[in-house]
Amino acid sequence: MGTTDEDGKEKEPLNLLTSTQIVIHDALKKLGYNQDMYHFLEEPLLSVSVRIPVRMDDGSTKTFTGFRAQHNNAVGPTMGGVRYHPQVNEDEIKALAMWMSMKCGIADLPFGGGKGGIICNPRALSFGELERLSRGYVRAISQIVGPTKDIPAPDMYTNSQIMGWMLDEYSRLSQTDSPGFITGKPLVLGGSEGRERAGAKGVTICIEEAAKKRGIPIHGARVIIQGFGNAGSFIAKFLYESGAKIIGISDVYGALYDQDGLNIPYLLDRRDSFGTVTSLFEGAITNEELLTKDCDILVPAAISNQITAENARNIQASIVVEAANGPTTLEATNILTERDILLVPDVLAGAGGVTVSYFEWVQNNQGYYWSEEEIAQRLQEKLVKAFHDIYELAHSRKVDMRLAAYMVGVRRLAEAALFRGWV
Ligand code: NAD
Repeated sequence: MGTTDEDGKEKEPLNLLTSTQIVIHDALKKLGYNQDMYHFLEEPLLSVSVRIPVRMDDGSTKTFTGFRAQHNNAVGPTMGGVRYHPQVNEDEIKALAMWMSMKCGIADLPFGGGKGGIICNPRALSFGELERLSRGYVRAISQIVGPTKDIPAPDMYTNSQIMGWMLDEYSRLSQTDSPGFITGKPLVLGGSEGRERAGAKGVTICIEEAAKKRGIPIHGARVIIQGFGNAGSFIAKFLYESGAKIIGISDVYGALYDQDGLNIPYLLDRRDSFGTVTSLFEGAITNEELLTKDCDILVPAAISNQITAENARNIQASIVVEAANGPTTLEATNILTERDILLVPDVLAGAGGVTVSYFEWVQNNQGYYWSEEEIAQRLQEKLVKAFHDIYELAHSRKVDMRLAAYMVGVRRLAEAALFRGWV
């Protein structure tokens, strides 16, 4: 979905790495740092590509390509997920590692950002092949990861079982019991209560805080959620349980809309494991139509580049909370801000997952585990504070919430780099 430039040619939305670099550049400039600091932070300090030979079930050997990027360790070890996807590439992993740095800074965690990935289609692999691939990845990156170096976690199409295999492989290699090597593990291997739903919970906390700022009570608030996968369905569930009226949801095939409110428990029951449900019903509308329907709160929770310069003027919500990564282009961000729509950026709304990963790592280090209620309360405290810090900064510096979030996210890294004498 592009816009047109002066020559009338289609302009593609900026790629993830470029758009992340632009905002980091602007944030550092606003904070008064010079170009040297920007050049230091514009790319990860370390980014490796590895080849992983895997014995397949038919006896052949297939070699996969994997990546790991560590944005910056001035504040502490790096932390971030590993995704399995056919289209993963090194630039995307670098940009996502930089996003993780921003999220860690925003939630005030003693980490920098990391990210990893393997080019593969996990649905086409058997259980055994998936295990051998996951173990092979850990062997390939074992020199650069560890509980005090770089801590992996689940991401797109990876889960607690995969984290369990990775933990086991690392423990064998290091000949130590090292639960703090990885987060998102099964509970019995040192996982944390509340880790699986932490992402959606974090988004919901940001929605609640944004609604308070706009004087919209959650009870009765009209909410539209694009995407009904892990993120969208749980955000819908949490908000529905708080009395919000979910008037629209969507999946890749279309959208359901009812201004009197959808029956969310029923839809949750009918959705499949890919987050699809709309094709079961008559009268579905398109995703494009859903985004511009009248509502109080719009939550894009599917894919990137959904709110663009083309449709941003038609968005009718008073609050947009980015649950997905990069659903709003930079041009659309400017348009929404001009129109006084409160945009809560992905790096803030999406900080719940890494925050509970941090809690998991802390629990592993102390060998003492917190209850689900304690985790929920600590997450609430961290994200409410982060939301208010960024909201206040946006107002005092007269910038949009995205730029304010990056300013908070990058500030600590820059300060730590100065104190270490690196820049
Ligand atoms: P998912 O694969 O479980 O679900 C994706 C949903 O989006 C599905 O309902 C799918 O049908 C829909 N979708 C796919 N393409 C679409 C399109 N072109 N138009 C409209 N809908 C489309 O993924 P997920 O885990 O829910 O993650 C979605 C986004 O939210 C990602 O950017 C992710 O990083 C972010 N996120 C995830 C979590 C989480 O708990 N998993 C939490 C917070 C944020």
